[in-house]
Amino acid sequence: MADRVDAAATALGYIKTRMEKARRRFGAPPEHVELVAVSKTFGADAIAPFLKAGQRVFGENRVQEAKEKWPALRERYRDLELHLIGPLQTNKAREAVALFDVIETVDRDKLAAMLAEEMSRARRRLPCFVQVNIGGEEQKAGIPTNEAVAFVERCRTVHGLDIVGLMCIPPDGQPAGPYFALLAQLGKEASVASLSMGMSGDFETAIAMGATHVRVGSALFGKR
Ligand SMILES: *Cc1c(COP(=O)(O)O)cnc(C)c1O
Repeated sequence: MADRVDAAATALGYIKTRMEKARRRFGAPPEHVELVAVSKTFGADAIAPFLKAGQRVFGENRVQEAKEKWPALRERYRDLELHLIGPLQTNKAREAVALFDVIETVDRDKLAAMLAEEMSRARRRLPCFVQVNIGGEEQKAGIPTNEAVAFVERCRTVHGLDIVGLMCIPPDGQPAGPYFALLAQLGKEASVASLSMGMSGDFETAIAMGATHVRVGSALFGKR
């Protein structure tokens, strides 16, 4: 176990150093960029060394999988912060509100309404991000770019959600920079403080464009 904790600490240190270098090089705000460690497909045995090494913010993309892994880990680490970064069906909203601390994938009115209802029922008002379909890809989740600002406004005023930021996954196989820049622009227009963008392959570019949260999986945990 000690070896695995050392390895986790080394992986975390390496990513955080690269994050800090990118932040300094581009001199962009924010002062601090949050590392969301994406642990999907990895079991509690692989996650535990990262918790022991001090990491507290994690991302999962499936409600069912999170339910199998995280309640037991949370018993031991009360201060951890779990982000839902995958698509959410309305019939899983109740479980999602119980399991997660931040919902990054609000992308339609029906879901926003259901989340609001479940949050008020559970008396848990979670910070949320609106996911934007930044590349206009048919198969991808997210609100279309031209509806994003109005949707953020509706989430706040109609549904009463606490929208803190925007989140996106740019199209594969293209430079991500222009998509991150577009998300940053939409974030300004929607008056949100946070931007969740950048993964293992492009988190430094995302930081250059103003990311406040990067979601890094394989660069920390290895290949899935
Ligand atoms: C899997 C996943 C990530 C992490 O991807 P890596 O390339 O492994 O860093 C980030 N964001 C979302 C939404 C994901 O599903």
